[in-house]
Amino acid sequence: MATEKLATEKLATEKFDVLVIGGGNAGIGAALPARKANLSVAMVESRDLGGTCPNRGCTPKKVLVAAGHALHEIERAHIHGIAVDKPRLDWAALIDREKDLIKDVPNNTERGLVRRGVEIVRGEASFVAPNAARIGDRTIEAKTIVIATGSKPRPLPIPGADKMITSDEMLSERELPASVVFVGGGVIALEFGHIYARAGARVTILEVLPQLLPSLDADAVKQLEAESERIGITIHTGVKVKAIQGEAGTLRVIFEQDGRELTATGARVVNGAGRIANVDTLNLDAANIVHDRGRIALDPFLRSTSNPNVYVCGDAVPSTPQLSPIATYEGDIVGRNIVDGVKHRPDYASVPTSVYTVPALASVGLTESAARDKGFKIGVHTTDMLSWFSARTYAETVAWSKIIVDEATDKVLGAHFVGHSGEELINLFALAMGLGITATQIRDKVYAYPTFASDIKNLI
Ligand SMILES: Cc1cc2nc3c(=O)[nH]c(=O)nc-3n(C[C@H](O)[C@H](O)[C@H](O)COP(=O)(O)OP(=O)(O)OC[C@H]3O[C@@H](n4cnc5c(N)ncnc54)[C@H](O)[C@@H]3O)c2cc1C
Repeated sequence: MATEKLATEKLATEKFDVLVIGGGNAGIGAALPARKANLSVAMVESRDLGGTCPNRGCTPKKVLVAAGHALHEIERAHIHGIAVDKPRLDWAALIDREKDLIKDVPNNTERGLVRRGVEIVRGEASFVAPNAARIGDRTIEAKTIVIATGSKPRPLPIPGADKMITSDEMLSERELPASVVFVGGGVIALEFGHIYARAGARVTILEVLPQLLPSLDADAVKQLEAESERIGITIHTGVKVKAIQGEAGTLRVIFEQDGRELTATGARVVNGAGRIANVDTLNLDAANIVHDRGRIALDPFLRSTSNPNVYVCGDAVPSTPQLSPIATYEGDIVGRNIVDGVKHRPDYASVPTSVYTVPALASVGLTESAARDKGFKIGVHTTDMLSWFSARTYAETVAWSKIIVDEATDKVLGAHFVGHSGEELINLFALAMGLGITATQIRDKVYAYPTFASDIKNLI
């Protein structure tokens, strides 16, 4: 490795080819191509290596979602002729199982990175110059610096906002709260709301906009909203949250809806208002990085427009989807731009995503309204599959899809599912969209029967 350490004095500057700030999906995605090309790489991490997704995000959350699925199955067991007593979820045991599943992530990640020759630096980095950052009493200079510092919950300017908890606490508290109010009706509110409601908590979701999950297809969201209400979740949209009062255990959220002042009560109130780029403590000005309200100005290659030696990837880029595979993808693009010269740019056209409610809402490509706004002449194929054998066999409570096809090219522009294993089927549509496979080709293919996937030929 070409690491050149000037370790003659305590505050000596260490030199690397690449300094990666943040050891999550994006940082690792950037570090690996650089190491493969034999560049020297230092990675700074202030918390757990592996980052949010495996330690505090996707993976531990999915453990809770899986329990939600088990409860959903039990709820409908009688339809299959199975008699089951009312289930009792031991919340503490579930949290222990979740923690146990992920406990080795930071150490295993560190071992993998060290084996590949990445130098791990513990601490919080901030810039001291366009090509240098300080971490405690160490200063590291690098030809290229990658900002992969992820995101954090959006602070809300509401009196009493400090009484709110975040997903970190929801994934750690061993006591199931009797009631929970989510301020903000995004992905985190819906996913955790479904888990809590199925576990027996009273759940309220307050959303400022007229629609929950505003970036998703309106009809798909309506289906999910109906299913959420069916399992007992109370939803208020178009509200203005004015204050959070009281103490943990007996909190009150004061909000306004249609000119009336209302109160939602909960043992816990959760910040469900989305996440913002985590870049405000990096001292960006010292590195001549142009930024505005947490958004770093980037060129199409994920490079700072004002400092060509600095790249940004993952959740730290606020304008692209905050998803784990996107963080890895952007990190890899940054790594390859460092190695190959600046020529790779990300393409987000057919990125599938799911809201892991039970059942899930899955989506890829354009919503119906976005397709119309872009001027496409579209065929919209909306199907309620509840009466189909496949849905009835599994006693689904919702099985719905909308596929949007461009009439000019016969290509799929968007696909949206609620239920029916949509979180798996959506990847077939992403593949079709990515490879330019037409609706006719999808219809003409033979699929294993009986599977949910075999239904897709009848959905377009
Ligand atoms: C509850 C929850 C559930 C989620 N579920 C899903 C899901 O189901 N599917 C999905 O695709 N995505 C999901 N996400 C989003 C996903 O976790 C993120 O998109 C992804 O982890 C972003 O990766 P990243 O590398 O950009 O950031 P991170 O993984 O957050 O990594 C950034 C790292 O940088 C470190 N860091 C920050 N500042 C500094 C500094 N100054 N110095 C040193 N280190 C620093 C942090 O400690 C952190 O480890 C979820 C997120 C949350 C919160």
